Amino acid sequence: MHISLIDSMYGKPGNPIEAKYAGWLKKDGHTIDLVGATPPPRSHFAEMVKAWPNDTVEDSTPPLLGAGSGADPLRAKVLWMQHPYNHMDLIADGKLIPALLKRAEAALLRASNKAAAKPSQQAPKPAPVVFQAGSGDDETHHVVDHKLRSELKGVPDLAQMAALHNLVLKRGTTRQKAVEAIQKALNKVVGSKLLQSGKYETDTEQAVHGFQTRWNDQGKDPPLDVDGRLGAHTLLALDEALLDSSFAAPAVSAPASPSQAPDAEHHAPAVDGHYPLDTDGAERIATKYGNIFRFAKAAKVTNQSKRPKFFHPKDIMVEYKGPGSDPAAAGSAKYGKDHRLIHPVLLEPLTRLMSALIEEGERIDDESMKRATIGSSWRSWEQDGEGFLKQLHKRIRLNPQIFGDLQFPADLEEEAKSNLYGKEQDFIDHLGAHRPWTHELAAKLYNIATGFKAPGGLSPHESGLVVDIDFPYGMLDKHQKVFAQFHQITTENNGDARLSGAGMWLAKYAKDELHFSSYNTEAEIWHMEWLEWKSTDADPGQKKS
Ligand SMILES: [Zn+2]
Repeated sequence: MHISLIDSMYGKPGNPIEAKYAGWLKKDGHTIDLVGATPPPRSHFAEMVKAWPNDTVEDSTPPLLGAGSGADPLRAKVLWMQHPYNHMDLIADGKLIPALLKRAEAALLRASNKAAAKPSQQAPKPAPVVFQAGSGDDETHHVVDHKLRSELKGVPDLAQMAALHNLVLKRGTTRQKAVEAIQKALNKVVGSKLLQSGKYETDTEQAVHGFQTRWNDQGKDPPLDVDGRLGAHTLLALDEALLDSSFAAPAVSAPASPSQAPDAEHHAPAVDGHYPLDTDGAERIATKYGNIFRFAKAAKVTNQSKRPKFFHPKDIMVEYKGPGSDPAAAGSAKYGKDHRLIHPVLLEPLTRLMSALIEEGERIDDESMKRATIGSSWRSWEQDGEGFLKQLHKRIRLNPQIFGDLQFPADLEEEAKSNLYGKEQDFIDHLGAHRPWTHELAAKLYNIATGFKAPGGLSPHESGLVVDIDFPYGMLDKHQKVFAQFHQITTENNGDARLSGAGMWLAKYAKDELHFSSYNTEAEIWHMEWLEWKSTDADPGQKKS
Protein backbone atom coordinates (compact mmCIF):
# COMPACT_ATOMS: atom_id res chain seq x y z
CA MET A 1 0.00 0.00 0.00
CA HIS A 2 1.35 3.37 -1.00
CA ILE A 3 0.06 6.91 -0.54
CA SER A 4 1.28 10.12 -2.12
CA LEU A 5 0.26 13.17 -0.11
CA ILE A 6 0.75 16.02 -2.51
CA ASP A 7 0.22 19.32 -0.77
CA SER A 8 -2.52 17.88 1.37
CA MET A 9 -2.89 17.81 5.20
CA TYR A 10 -3.77 21.31 6.16
CA GLY A 11 -5.30 22.18 9.53
CA LYS A 12 -3.84 22.59 13.01
CA PRO A 13 -0.66 20.76 14.06
CA GLY A 14 -1.41 17.55 15.90
CA ASN A 15 -4.84 17.14 14.30
CA PRO A 16 -6.43 13.66 14.24
CA ILE A 17 -5.76 13.16 10.54
CA GLU A 18 -2.03 13.40 11.14
CA ALA A 19 -2.32 10.71 13.80
CA LYS A 20 -4.29 8.50 11.42
CA TYR A 21 -1.64 8.69 8.75
CA ALA A 22 1.08 8.08 11.30
CA GLY A 23 -0.74 4.95 12.48
CA TRP A 24 -1.32 3.71 8.96
CA LEU A 25 2.35 4.18 8.14
CA LYS A 26 3.40 1.84 10.94
CA LYS A 27 1.96 -1.14 9.07
CA ASP A 28 4.40 -3.35 7.25
CA GLY A 29 4.67 -2.60 3.53
CA HIS A 30 3.00 0.79 3.82
CA THR A 31 4.91 3.62 2.17
CA ILE A 32 4.20 7.31 1.81
CA ASP A 33 5.31 10.42 -0.07
CA LEU A 34 5.11 13.70 1.81
CA VAL A 35 5.18 16.71 -0.47
CA GLY A 36 4.02 20.10 0.73
CA ALA A 37 3.97 23.43 -1.04
CA THR A 38 3.48 25.72 1.93
CA PRO A 39 4.18 25.74 5.71
CA PRO A 40 1.10 23.94 7.09
CA PRO A 41 1.51 20.56 5.41
CA ARG A 42 5.25 20.72 5.72
CA SER A 43 5.08 21.24 9.46
CA HIS A 44 2.76 18.21 9.80
CA PHE A 45 5.15 16.18 7.71
CA ALA A 46 8.14 17.25 9.77
CA GLU A 47 6.45 15.67 12.77
CA MET A 48 5.62 12.48 10.91
CA VAL A 49 9.12 11.83 9.59
CA LYS A 50 10.58 11.99 13.09
CA ALA A 51 9.28 8.51 13.69
CA TRP A 52 11.24 7.09 10.74
CA PRO A 53 14.76 8.47 10.92
CA ASN A 54 16.30 5.47 9.16
CA ASP A 55 13.61 4.87 6.58
CA THR A 56 13.21 8.35 5.25
CA VAL A 57 14.65 9.75 2.09
CA GLU A 58 14.99 13.47 2.33
CA ASP A 59 15.12 14.47 -1.22
CA SER A 60 15.61 17.62 -3.15
CA THR A 61 12.79 19.53 -4.69
CA PRO A 62 11.77 18.27 -7.17
CA PRO A 63 12.91 14.82 -6.15
CA LEU A 64 15.71 13.17 -8.07
CA LEU A 65 15.40 9.99 -6.07
CA GLY A 66 19.14 9.91 -5.86
CA ALA A 67 20.62 7.97 -2.95
CA GLY A 68 20.19 10.57 -0.24
CA SER A 69 20.24 9.35 3.31
CA GLY A 70 21.15 5.78 2.47
CA ALA A 71 17.67 4.31 2.26
CA ASP A 72 16.69 3.14 -1.22
CA PRO A 73 14.56 5.98 -2.58
CA LEU A 74 12.17 3.70 -4.46
CA ARG A 75 11.57 1.47 -1.47
CA ALA A 76 11.95 3.87 1.44
CA LYS A 77 9.01 4.03 3.79
CA VAL A 78 8.90 7.81 3.54
CA LEU A 79 9.88 10.19 0.80
CA TRP A 80 10.01 13.63 2.27
CA MET A 81 10.59 16.76 0.30
CA GLN A 82 11.45 19.20 3.03
CA HIS A 83 11.75 22.27 0.85
CA PRO A 84 8.83 24.48 -0.12
CA TYR A 85 7.54 24.14 -3.60
CA ASN A 86 5.39 26.44 -5.69
CA HIS A 87 1.79 25.21 -5.89
CA MET A 88 1.60 25.36 -9.67
CA ASP A 89 5.06 23.93 -10.20
CA LEU A 90 4.04 20.81 -8.31
CA ILE A 91 1.94 19.91 -11.32
CA ALA A 92 3.05 22.11 -14.19
CA ASP A 93 6.78 21.42 -14.04
CA GLY A 94 6.20 17.84 -15.05
CA LYS A 95 8.96 16.67 -12.73
CA LEU A 96 7.31 15.82 -9.47
CA ILE A 97 4.46 13.54 -10.60
CA PRO A 98 6.65 11.24 -12.75
CA ALA A 99 9.02 10.83 -9.83
CA LEU A 100 6.19 9.97 -7.47
CA LEU A 101 4.75 7.54 -10.00
CA LYS A 102 8.06 5.67 -9.92
CA ARG A 103 7.59 5.20 -6.22
CA ALA A 104 4.00 4.10 -6.65
CA GLU A 105 4.96 1.69 -9.41
CA ALA A 106 7.71 0.19 -7.31
CA ALA A 107 5.24 -0.27 -4.46
CA LEU A 108 2.78 -2.02 -6.79
CA LEU A 109 5.50 -4.24 -8.04
CA ARG A 110 6.59 -5.24 -4.58
CA ALA A 111 3.02 -6.15 -3.78
CA SER A 112 2.55 -8.16 -7.00
CA ASN A 113 5.85 -9.98 -6.61
CA LYS A 114 4.69 -11.22 -3.28
CA ALA A 115 1.54 -12.61 -4.83
CA ALA A 116 2.83 -13.93 -8.17
CA ALA A 117 5.65 -16.40 -7.95
CA LYS A 118 8.14 -15.73 -10.75
CA PRO A 119 6.55 -13.76 -13.50
CA SER A 120 9.82 -12.59 -14.98
CA GLN A 121 11.65 -15.90 -15.40
CA GLN A 122 11.27 -15.97 -19.17
CA ALA A 123 11.80 -12.28 -19.64
CA PRO A 124 14.63 -10.97 -21.73
CA LYS A 125 17.57 -9.51 -19.79
CA PRO A 126 16.74 -6.03 -18.66
CA ALA A 127 18.44 -3.11 -20.37
CA PRO A 128 20.47 -0.65 -18.31
CA VAL A 129 18.65 1.45 -15.78
CA VAL A 130 17.85 4.91 -16.99
CA PHE A 131 16.28 6.29 -13.90
CA GLN A 132 18.93 7.43 -11.44
CA ALA A 133 17.83 5.41 -8.51
CA GLY A 134 18.53 2.33 -6.51
CA SER A 135 21.61 0.33 -5.71
CA GLY A 136 21.70 -1.55 -9.00
CA ASP A 137 21.46 -5.03 -7.53
CA ASP A 138 17.76 -5.03 -6.97
CA GLU A 139 15.93 -6.54 -9.94
CA THR A 140 12.66 -4.96 -8.97
CA HIS A 141 13.83 -1.52 -9.99
CA HIS A 142 14.77 -2.57 -13.46
CA VAL A 143 11.72 -4.60 -14.06
CA VAL A 144 9.48 -1.58 -13.72
CA ASP A 145 10.89 0.11 -16.78
CA HIS A 146 12.79 -2.31 -18.87
CA LYS A 147 11.02 -5.54 -19.54
CA LEU A 148 10.11 -4.53 -23.07
CA ARG A 149 12.90 -3.87 -25.53
CA SER A 150 11.15 -3.32 -28.83
CA GLU A 151 9.07 -0.38 -30.01
CA LEU A 152 6.38 -1.60 -27.61
CA LYS A 153 8.26 -0.24 -24.62
CA GLY A 154 7.12 3.30 -25.35
CA VAL A 155 3.50 2.45 -24.60
CA PRO A 156 2.75 3.00 -20.90
CA ASP A 157 -0.02 0.39 -20.62
CA LEU A 158 2.19 -2.24 -22.22
CA ALA A 159 5.20 -1.40 -20.08
CA GLN A 160 2.99 -1.77 -17.04
CA MET A 161 1.51 -5.05 -18.27
CA ALA A 162 4.94 -6.49 -18.88
CA ALA A 163 6.13 -5.51 -15.43
CA LEU A 164 3.10 -6.20 -13.33
CA HIS A 165 1.18 -8.90 -15.21
CA ASN A 166 -1.90 -7.06 -14.10
CA LEU A 167 -3.70 -6.58 -17.41
CA VAL A 168 -5.00 -8.72 -20.25
CA LEU A 169 -5.99 -7.16 -23.54
CA LYS A 170 -9.01 -8.83 -25.05
CA ARG A 171 -12.11 -8.08 -27.04
CA GLY A 172 -13.77 -4.84 -26.03
CA THR A 173 -10.81 -3.47 -24.12
CA THR A 174 -10.68 0.31 -24.03
CA ARG A 175 -6.87 0.68 -23.94
CA GLN A 176 -6.70 2.15 -27.38
CA LYS A 177 -3.02 3.17 -27.52
CA ALA A 178 -1.95 -0.25 -26.34
CA VAL A 179 -4.14 -2.05 -28.87
CA GLU A 180 -2.93 0.19 -31.69
CA ALA A 181 0.68 -0.67 -30.89
CA ILE A 182 -0.18 -4.37 -30.75
CA GLN A 183 -1.96 -4.21 -34.10
CA LYS A 184 1.06 -2.53 -35.66
CA ALA A 185 3.36 -5.15 -34.14
CA LEU A 186 1.20 -8.04 -35.36
CA ASN A 187 1.22 -6.63 -38.88
CA LYS A 188 5.01 -6.70 -38.78
CA VAL A 189 5.46 -10.01 -37.09
CA VAL A 190 2.79 -12.22 -38.64
CA GLY A 191 1.90 -10.20 -41.72
CA SER A 192 -1.69 -9.58 -40.66
CA LYS A 193 -3.40 -6.61 -42.24
CA LEU A 194 -5.07 -5.07 -39.25
CA LEU A 195 -6.29 -1.52 -39.30
CA GLN A 196 -4.51 0.26 -36.47
CA SER A 197 -7.81 1.20 -34.98
CA GLY A 198 -7.10 0.62 -31.31
CA LYS A 199 -10.16 -1.63 -31.14
CA TYR A 200 -9.59 -5.21 -30.09
CA GLU A 201 -12.01 -7.00 -32.38
CA THR A 202 -12.33 -10.29 -34.22
CA ASP A 203 -9.47 -9.65 -36.62
CA THR A 204 -7.09 -8.63 -33.88
CA GLU A 205 -8.11 -11.65 -31.87
CA GLN A 206 -7.39 -13.88 -34.86
CA ALA A 207 -4.02 -12.28 -35.47
CA VAL A 208 -3.05 -12.79 -31.81
CA HIS A 209 -4.23 -16.36 -32.15
CA GLY A 210 -2.03 -16.73 -35.22
CA PHE A 211 0.94 -15.26 -33.43
CA GLN A 212 0.52 -17.58 -30.44
CA THR A 213 0.25 -20.55 -32.77
CA ARG A 214 3.38 -19.60 -34.65
CA TRP A 215 5.30 -18.96 -31.45
CA ASN A 216 4.44 -22.41 -30.19
CA ASP A 217 5.10 -24.03 -33.60
CA GLN A 218 8.62 -22.65 -33.48
CA GLY A 219 9.09 -24.32 -30.11
CA LYS A 220 9.73 -21.06 -28.32
CA ASP A 221 9.61 -20.54 -24.60
CA PRO A 222 7.37 -20.16 -22.74
CA PRO A 223 4.60 -21.99 -24.61
CA LEU A 224 1.63 -19.66 -24.92
CA ASP A 225 -2.04 -20.35 -24.43
CA VAL A 226 -3.57 -20.06 -27.88
CA ASP A 227 -6.60 -18.02 -26.89
CA GLY A 228 -6.42 -14.81 -28.92
CA ARG A 229 -6.01 -12.78 -25.74
CA LEU A 230 -2.96 -10.71 -25.02
CA GLY A 231 -1.58 -11.19 -21.53
CA ALA A 232 1.91 -10.43 -20.26
CA HIS A 233 3.45 -13.64 -21.64
CA THR A 234 2.13 -13.10 -25.14
CA LEU A 235 3.19 -9.47 -24.91
CA LEU A 236 6.75 -10.39 -23.97
CA ALA A 237 6.84 -12.99 -26.73
CA LEU A 238 5.63 -10.41 -29.23
CA ASP A 239 8.30 -8.02 -27.98
CA GLU A 240 10.94 -10.66 -28.58
CA ALA A 241 9.54 -11.57 -32.00
CA LEU A 242 9.73 -7.93 -33.09
CA LEU A 243 13.48 -7.98 -32.49
CA ASP A 244 13.97 -11.34 -34.17
CA SER A 245 14.02 -10.93 -37.94
CA SER A 246 13.82 -14.68 -38.52
CA PHE A 247 10.52 -14.83 -36.67
CA ALA A 248 8.95 -12.11 -38.77
CA ALA A 249 9.84 -13.83 -42.05
CA PRO A 250 6.78 -14.94 -44.04
CA ALA A 251 5.58 -18.33 -42.95
CA VAL A 252 2.77 -20.60 -43.94
CA SER A 253 1.09 -20.22 -40.60
CA ALA A 254 0.34 -16.52 -41.11
CA PRO A 255 -3.12 -15.92 -39.75
CA ALA A 256 -5.83 -15.26 -42.23
CA SER A 257 -9.33 -14.33 -41.30
CA PRO A 258 -11.78 -16.97 -42.51
CA SER A 259 -13.23 -14.55 -44.99
CA GLN A 260 -9.96 -13.90 -46.73
CA ALA A 261 -9.35 -15.62 -50.00
CA PRO A 262 -6.03 -17.46 -50.17
CA ASP A 263 -4.68 -14.84 -52.56
CA ALA A 264 -5.77 -11.91 -50.44
CA GLU A 265 -2.26 -10.49 -50.82
CA HIS A 266 -3.04 -9.34 -54.32
CA HIS A 267 -5.47 -6.74 -55.48
CA ALA A 268 -4.88 -6.74 -59.20
CA PRO A 269 -8.17 -6.56 -61.10
CA ALA A 270 -7.82 -10.05 -62.53
CA VAL A 271 -7.73 -11.62 -59.10
CA ASP A 272 -10.70 -12.18 -56.83
CA GLY A 273 -10.89 -9.72 -53.94
CA HIS A 274 -11.64 -10.65 -50.35
CA TYR A 275 -15.33 -10.47 -51.05
CA PRO A 276 -15.81 -11.17 -54.74
CA LEU A 277 -19.03 -10.48 -56.58
CA ASP A 278 -19.74 -12.80 -59.47
CA THR A 279 -21.12 -10.73 -62.35
CA ASP A 280 -22.03 -13.67 -64.58
CA GLY A 281 -25.47 -13.10 -66.06
CA ALA A 282 -25.64 -9.47 -64.90
CA GLU A 283 -26.37 -6.72 -67.38
CA ARG A 284 -23.54 -4.22 -67.77
CA ILE A 285 -25.04 -0.75 -68.20
CA ALA A 286 -23.01 2.26 -69.33
CA THR A 287 -24.48 5.11 -67.29
CA LYS A 288 -23.50 8.74 -66.86
CA TYR A 289 -21.55 7.61 -63.79
CA GLY A 290 -19.73 4.87 -65.66
CA ASN A 291 -20.45 1.15 -65.68
CA ILE A 292 -23.07 -0.20 -63.28
CA PHE A 293 -24.16 -3.82 -63.20
CA ARG A 294 -27.80 -4.75 -62.95
CA PHE A 295 -28.54 -8.24 -61.70
CA ALA A 296 -31.68 -10.20 -62.45
CA LYS A 297 -32.59 -11.25 -58.94
CA ALA A 298 -31.63 -10.18 -55.43
CA ALA A 299 -31.42 -12.33 -52.33
CA LYS A 300 -33.52 -11.29 -49.36
CA VAL A 301 -31.73 -10.75 -46.06
CA THR A 302 -33.53 -9.94 -42.83
CA ASN A 303 -32.34 -9.54 -39.29
CA GLN A 304 -34.00 -9.07 -35.93
CA SER A 305 -31.24 -10.11 -33.55
CA LYS A 306 -28.62 -7.89 -31.89
CA ARG A 307 -30.20 -4.76 -33.32
CA PRO A 308 -28.76 -1.60 -31.70
CA LYS A 309 -32.03 -0.20 -30.45
CA PHE A 310 -30.82 2.39 -28.01
CA PHE A 311 -29.83 6.02 -27.90
CA HIS A 312 -26.47 7.74 -27.57
CA PRO A 313 -26.19 11.54 -27.47
CA LYS A 314 -24.80 13.60 -30.29
CA ASP A 315 -21.84 14.95 -28.31
CA ILE A 316 -20.09 11.58 -28.23
CA MET A 317 -20.41 11.07 -31.99
CA VAL A 318 -17.51 11.58 -34.37
CA GLU A 319 -17.48 12.35 -38.06
CA TYR A 320 -16.76 9.38 -40.27
CA LYS A 321 -13.90 10.28 -42.59
CA GLY A 322 -13.03 6.91 -44.07
CA PRO A 323 -13.73 5.51 -47.52
CA GLY A 324 -17.14 6.60 -48.78
CA SER A 325 -17.23 9.81 -46.75
CA ASP A 326 -17.04 12.22 -49.69
CA PRO A 327 -20.44 12.48 -51.40
CA ALA A 328 -19.34 15.29 -53.71
CA ALA A 329 -16.54 13.15 -55.11
CA ALA A 330 -19.03 10.31 -55.54
CA GLY A 331 -21.30 12.51 -57.60
CA SER A 332 -23.99 13.13 -55.02
CA ALA A 333 -23.61 16.46 -53.25
CA LYS A 334 -26.58 15.96 -50.99
CA TYR A 335 -24.97 15.06 -47.72
CA GLY A 336 -23.08 17.13 -45.18
CA LYS A 337 -20.90 16.35 -42.22
CA ASP A 338 -23.94 15.92 -39.96
CA HIS A 339 -24.96 12.95 -42.07
CA ARG A 340 -21.77 11.12 -41.17
CA LEU A 341 -21.81 11.24 -37.37
CA ILE A 342 -21.15 7.85 -35.85
CA HIS A 343 -20.30 6.34 -32.49
CA PRO A 344 -16.50 5.99 -32.18
CA VAL A 345 -16.69 2.20 -31.92
CA LEU A 346 -18.17 2.11 -35.41
CA LEU A 347 -15.10 3.70 -37.03
CA GLU A 348 -13.18 0.51 -37.52
CA PRO A 349 -15.98 -1.83 -38.69
CA LEU A 350 -17.49 0.83 -40.95
CA THR A 351 -14.10 1.58 -42.50
CA ARG A 352 -13.73 -2.12 -43.16
CA LEU A 353 -17.19 -2.46 -44.71
CA MET A 354 -16.79 0.55 -46.97
CA SER A 355 -13.23 -0.33 -47.98
CA ALA A 356 -14.25 -3.84 -48.92
CA LEU A 357 -17.28 -2.64 -50.91
CA ILE A 358 -15.35 0.04 -52.82
CA GLU A 359 -12.35 -2.21 -53.38
CA GLU A 360 -14.48 -4.88 -54.98
CA GLY A 361 -16.21 -2.18 -57.05
CA GLU A 362 -12.84 -1.17 -58.42
CA ARG A 363 -11.97 -4.75 -59.22
CA ILE A 364 -15.11 -5.48 -61.20
CA ASP A 365 -15.57 -1.85 -62.35
CA ASP A 366 -18.98 -1.06 -60.89
CA GLU A 367 -19.80 2.55 -60.09
CA SER A 368 -22.61 1.72 -57.68
CA MET A 369 -19.93 0.22 -55.44
CA LYS A 370 -17.15 2.72 -56.15
CA ARG A 371 -19.45 5.67 -55.45
CA ALA A 372 -21.04 4.28 -52.31
CA THR A 373 -21.20 7.04 -49.67
CA ILE A 374 -22.66 7.47 -46.23
CA GLY A 375 -25.99 9.24 -46.61
CA SER A 376 -27.29 9.09 -43.08
CA SER A 377 -25.95 7.87 -39.76
CA TRP A 378 -26.64 9.12 -36.24
CA ARG A 379 -29.97 10.88 -35.95
CA SER A 380 -31.87 12.52 -33.14
CA TRP A 381 -35.33 11.28 -32.28
CA GLU A 382 -36.67 14.61 -33.57
CA GLN A 383 -35.24 13.88 -37.02
CA ASP A 384 -36.66 10.37 -36.96
CA GLY A 385 -40.01 11.74 -35.79
CA GLU A 386 -40.21 14.06 -38.81
CA GLY A 387 -39.43 11.16 -41.09
CA PHE A 388 -42.01 8.96 -39.42
CA LEU A 389 -44.79 11.49 -39.91
CA LYS A 390 -43.92 11.71 -43.61
CA GLN A 391 -44.00 7.94 -43.79
CA LEU A 392 -47.51 7.84 -42.23
CA HIS A 393 -48.81 10.21 -44.89
CA LYS A 394 -47.08 8.26 -47.61
CA ARG A 395 -48.39 4.84 -46.54
CA ILE A 396 -51.96 6.14 -46.39
CA ARG A 397 -51.59 7.55 -49.87
CA LEU A 398 -50.02 4.39 -51.30
CA ASN A 399 -52.63 2.03 -49.82
CA PRO A 400 -56.04 3.35 -50.89
CA GLN A 401 -57.37 -0.22 -50.88
CA ILE A 402 -56.89 -0.20 -47.10
CA PHE A 403 -57.33 3.42 -46.06
CA GLY A 404 -59.67 4.75 -48.75
CA ASP A 405 -59.63 8.52 -48.54
CA LEU A 406 -58.77 8.74 -44.87
CA GLN A 407 -56.35 11.51 -43.96
CA PHE A 408 -53.90 11.53 -41.11
CA PRO A 409 -55.46 13.85 -38.46
CA ALA A 410 -53.66 17.20 -38.30
CA ASP A 411 -54.05 17.41 -34.52
CA LEU A 412 -52.09 14.15 -34.09
CA GLU A 413 -49.11 15.29 -36.12
CA GLU A 414 -47.18 16.55 -33.09
CA GLU A 415 -47.65 13.23 -31.34
CA ALA A 416 -46.65 11.33 -34.48
CA LYS A 417 -43.40 13.30 -34.57
CA SER A 418 -42.66 12.93 -30.86
CA ASN A 419 -40.45 10.42 -29.08
CA LEU A 420 -42.72 7.37 -29.13
CA TYR A 421 -40.44 5.14 -27.10
CA GLY A 422 -42.78 3.23 -24.75
CA LYS A 423 -45.75 5.17 -26.10
CA GLU A 424 -46.42 3.27 -29.30
CA GLN A 425 -49.69 1.83 -28.01
CA ASP A 426 -50.93 5.22 -26.81
CA PHE A 427 -50.31 6.63 -30.25
CA ILE A 428 -52.25 3.84 -31.94
CA ASP A 429 -55.10 4.28 -29.41
CA HIS A 430 -55.26 8.01 -30.04
CA LEU A 431 -55.39 7.55 -33.80
CA GLY A 432 -57.93 4.73 -33.47
CA ALA A 433 -60.23 6.97 -31.41
CA HIS A 434 -60.12 9.66 -34.08
CA ARG A 435 -63.26 9.01 -36.16
CA PRO A 436 -63.57 7.89 -38.88
CA TRP A 437 -60.35 6.02 -38.02
CA THR A 438 -60.81 2.76 -36.19
CA HIS A 439 -58.42 1.01 -33.87
CA GLU A 440 -57.88 -1.70 -36.45
CA LEU A 441 -56.96 0.76 -39.20
CA ALA A 442 -54.72 2.71 -36.84
CA ALA A 443 -52.81 -0.43 -35.89
CA LYS A 444 -52.54 -1.39 -39.54
CA LEU A 445 -51.11 1.98 -40.49
CA TYR A 446 -48.64 1.86 -37.65
CA ASN A 447 -47.44 -1.58 -38.66
CA ILE A 448 -47.13 -0.73 -42.33
CA ALA A 449 -45.33 2.56 -41.68
CA THR A 450 -42.89 1.11 -39.16
CA GLY A 451 -41.97 -1.49 -41.78
CA PHE A 452 -40.32 1.38 -43.64
CA LYS A 453 -39.31 3.82 -40.96
CA ALA A 454 -39.02 3.71 -37.20
CA PRO A 455 -40.74 6.41 -35.14
CA GLY A 456 -38.73 8.93 -33.12
CA GLY A 457 -37.14 7.21 -30.13
CA LEU A 458 -37.37 3.78 -31.74
CA SER A 459 -34.84 3.99 -34.54
CA PRO A 460 -31.48 2.21 -34.29
CA HIS A 461 -29.99 5.22 -36.09
CA GLU A 462 -30.15 7.02 -32.74
CA SER A 463 -27.43 4.68 -31.43
CA GLY A 464 -24.79 5.98 -33.85
CA LEU A 465 -24.17 2.38 -34.93
CA VAL A 466 -26.26 2.45 -38.08
CA VAL A 467 -25.60 3.98 -41.48
CA ASP A 468 -27.57 4.34 -44.68
CA ILE A 469 -25.28 3.90 -47.66
CA ASP A 470 -26.32 5.85 -50.73
CA PHE A 471 -25.16 4.66 -54.15
CA PRO A 472 -26.28 4.98 -57.76
CA TYR A 473 -28.03 2.27 -59.73
CA GLY A 474 -28.66 1.95 -63.42
CA MET A 475 -31.41 0.43 -65.57
CA LEU A 476 -32.91 0.50 -69.03
CA ASP A 477 -36.37 1.99 -69.27
CA LYS A 478 -39.07 0.54 -71.52
CA HIS A 479 -37.60 2.36 -74.53
CA GLN A 480 -34.22 0.79 -73.77
CA LYS A 481 -32.94 4.17 -72.68
CA VAL A 482 -30.34 4.20 -69.92
CA PHE A 483 -31.53 5.66 -66.66
CA ALA A 484 -29.29 6.07 -63.61
CA GLN A 485 -29.56 7.88 -60.30
CA PHE A 486 -28.60 7.64 -56.64
CA HIS A 487 -31.32 5.89 -54.67
CA GLN A 488 -31.21 8.71 -52.09
CA ILE A 489 -32.47 6.44 -49.31
CA THR A 490 -35.94 6.58 -50.82
CA THR A 491 -38.00 3.45 -50.37
CA GLU A 492 -39.48 3.61 -53.89
CA ASN A 493 -35.98 3.11 -55.25
CA ASN A 494 -35.14 0.12 -53.11
CA GLY A 495 -36.24 -2.52 -55.62
CA ASP A 496 -33.88 -1.19 -58.30
CA ALA A 497 -31.07 -0.31 -55.92
CA ARG A 498 -30.99 -3.91 -54.68
CA LEU A 499 -30.20 -5.16 -58.18
CA SER A 500 -27.08 -3.01 -58.59
CA GLY A 501 -23.59 -4.24 -57.79
CA ALA A 502 -23.64 -2.45 -54.43
CA GLY A 503 -27.04 -3.86 -53.51
CA MET A 504 -26.05 -7.40 -54.43
CA TRP A 505 -22.73 -7.15 -52.64
CA LEU A 506 -24.31 -5.82 -49.43
CA ALA A 507 -26.86 -8.63 -49.42
CA LYS A 508 -24.13 -11.20 -49.99
CA TYR A 509 -21.45 -10.10 -47.53
CA ALA A 510 -22.56 -7.43 -45.08
CA LYS A 511 -24.28 -9.65 -42.54
CA ASP A 512 -22.31 -12.88 -42.47
CA GLU A 513 -18.85 -11.50 -43.15
CA LEU A 514 -18.82 -7.96 -41.87
CA HIS A 515 -21.53 -7.99 -39.15
CA PHE A 516 -23.76 -5.32 -40.64
CA SER A 517 -27.34 -6.03 -41.61
CA SER A 518 -30.52 -4.42 -42.76
CA TYR A 519 -33.61 -5.47 -40.84
CA ASN A 520 -35.03 -6.26 -44.26
CA THR A 521 -33.29 -5.72 -47.59
CA GLU A 522 -36.67 -5.75 -49.30
CA ALA A 523 -37.48 -2.52 -47.47
CA GLU A 524 -34.04 -0.87 -47.22
CA ILE A 525 -30.99 -2.49 -48.78
CA TRP A 526 -28.87 0.52 -47.76
CA HIS A 527 -29.72 0.47 -44.07
CA MET A 528 -26.79 -1.16 -42.28
CA GLU A 529 -26.98 -1.84 -38.56
CA TRP A 530 -23.77 -2.91 -36.86
CA LEU A 531 -24.49 -6.02 -34.81
CA GLU A 532 -21.29 -6.54 -32.81
CA TRP A 533 -21.72 -3.77 -30.25
CA LYS A 534 -22.11 -6.03 -27.18
CA SER A 535 -19.32 -5.43 -24.63
CA THR A 536 -18.00 -2.44 -26.53
CA ASP A 537 -18.14 1.14 -25.28
CA ALA A 538 -21.41 1.52 -27.18
CA ASP A 539 -23.13 -1.24 -25.21
CA PRO A 540 -25.63 0.48 -22.89
CA GLY A 541 -25.24 -2.42 -20.44
CA GLN A 542 -21.47 -1.98 -20.29
CA LYS A 543 -20.10 -0.72 -17.00
CA LYS A 544 -17.65 2.15 -17.38
CA SER A 545 -14.63 2.15 -15.10
ZN1 LIG B 1 -31.50 3.66 -42.15
